[in-house]
Amino acid sequence: MPPEAQSRKRVGSSPEMNLDQTTMSKPLAIICDIDETLCTEFDRPILTACQMIARLHRAIEVHYVTARPGGARKGTEEFLCDQRLPGWRNLYFCPNWQSTREHKTAVMGRLAKEYNVIVSIGDADEDEQASRAAGVLFVRITETNIEDAWKKIAVLVERATRGVDDPLARLFGS
Ligand SMILES: [Mg+2]
Repeated sequence: MPPEAQSRKRVGSSPEMNLDQTTMSKPLAIICDIDETLCTEFDRPILTACQMIARLHRAIEVHYVTARPGGARKGTEEFLCDQRLPGWRNLYFCPNWQSTREHKTAVMGRLAKEYNVIVSIGDADEDEQASRAAGVLFVRITETNIEDAWKKIAVLVERATRGVDDPLARLFGS
């Protein structure tokens, strides 16, 4: 039996603690690309995408992993603010010493360790490759599948948050 399976068995058989609880205790998160996923031409919102992210269950942290350089921070924060998108602190810009592929792969790898990532959303091959390398489920947005892709994401979110209290939804009845 490989060591990992042994420890899982041992942990799972202990009444004090099990592996599921460890997974559950990680915060829920979504990883999202920005360009051609949430907007076009830097700040023209793709409405279906923005509305969905703006209305997300508040237990979910949104992390934006983008190829944009740090110099785009101000405009990007304004876009998130204008669209009422959560998680403006969780912007990961591409450092100029790193390729966008390396950047996305490194950040997603870190996020996957820290969070229970429901899904990673993006439009590019490098988004998909970085997500797969991090072991995270990926949904690709194309010009023609926007509605279907976000419906699929809504189902994943619903499943992941079933039974999780959303104080905002309780307050506003949404
Ligand atoms: Mg993109």
